[in-house]
Amino acid sequence: MAERIGVYGGTFDPPHLGHLAIAERLVDAFALDRLLMVPAAIPPHKRGQTISSPFHRLAMLALATAESPRLYVSPIEVEPGATPYTVDTLRRLQQDQPDDCLFFVMGADSFRDVSCWHQYEELLTRYSTIVAMRPGFPGEEAASWQGLAGHLPVRLQELVVDLRGGRRPTIAQMESQHIYLTDYVTVDVSATNIRLAVAQGRSLGDLVPPSVASYIEKYQLYSHA
Ligand code: ATP
Repeated sequence: MAERIGVYGGTFDPPHLGHLAIAERLVDAFALDRLLMVPAAIPPHKRGQTISSPFHRLAMLALATAESPRLYVSPIEVEPGATPYTVDTLRRLQQDQPDDCLFFVMGADSFRDVSCWHQYEELLTRYSTIVAMRPGFPGEEAASWQGLAGHLPVRLQELVVDLRGGRRPTIAQMESQHIYLTDYVTVDVSATNIRLAVAQGRSLGDLVPPSVASYIEKYQLYSHA
């Protein structure tokens, strides 16, 4: 049977409260059957510093999602031979399950830069995209959505469905491809701040699940970030 599948790409170094809260709320609002968290294979030079191995990032994601029945982890982008492009990942997932409806999830900071992504027009037209507002990034307070999606060609702007204000998509909307702007969750947390907090010996509080905090400590991740 055709399912609605969320595909949430990112570095997840580490996965944090922002990622998890967004994933849970989107599963609910879009009535997703599953949401896959997909850690990216990012070459270390991209961030200008050491990035945790795919193994650690997958392990932390598995711990973070263990108690959430609809959240899954997919190694699809870190398997040998995988290509680094999001559009290829979605193509592969769609080939495996041709009837499924895929919703790619990204934060407002990623959306701001999406026109630099490989084959981004195909990504945004073939699959639905859900953009999560992020404190301090475009779209958070703008009254109209043009401030957020105005950088896209007009034919892509026509796909925008502004759900900010906590609105939910309708069943009819979800039957075709759209770019949904959402603000169900606004959590001002980033993996960068978490890595910094660990390096400075500060407590992580509830910014990551306790199992992830224990994992970070056990494997001494980020202590020299
Ligand atoms: P870093 O600080 O290392 O850049 P990050 O916190 O942005 O990491 P990523 O793994 O890069 O985390 O994020 C994966 C995706 O989740 C991206 O599309 C990003 O925009 C989005 N995202 C991360 N944190 C938030 C947040 N607090 N609110 C909304 N979107 C978020």
